[in-house]
Amino acid sequence: MTEHKYTEMAAELDVFASLADDELSEAVRRAGSCGWLYTSGGMPEWTGDDRADRELAAPICAACPVQRECLESEFRTHGYALSGVWGPLAEDDRRAVFLRWLDRRDGTVVPDRDDAEFGGQP
Ligand code: SF4
Repeated sequence: MTEHKYTEMAAELDVFASLADDELSEAVRRAGSCGWLYTSGGMPEWTGDDRADRELAAPICAACPVQRECLESEFRTHGYALSGVWGPLAEDDRRAVFLRWLDRRDGTVVPDRDDAEFGGQP
């Protein structure tokens, strides 16, 4: 993924900036593909291996109608430390988008995060 794409994805999340946390999580809960699969018993059998499980999760997230809402929600709650596919980006791409997202929010959002993993940034 290119630097431009990271910036573009962060900008796409601006539309959610004024949305309350509970509204955002409700939208994800209601329409997220993983939620539907979970309630219908259609979730894949997770292997416990990160790489293999990411490969299983990636197509589910790729088809999800609330990918951006999910990403926004995860940035707010887990920030840089989040692992897994969520959103549906892999960790490296998600962290690159997260740093740009954080810049765009001008310090108005302080996600829960492990400061050591975040590299000591405020
Ligand atoms: S993007 Fe993936 S993790 Fe997020 S709600 Fe959709 S299916 Fe679930």
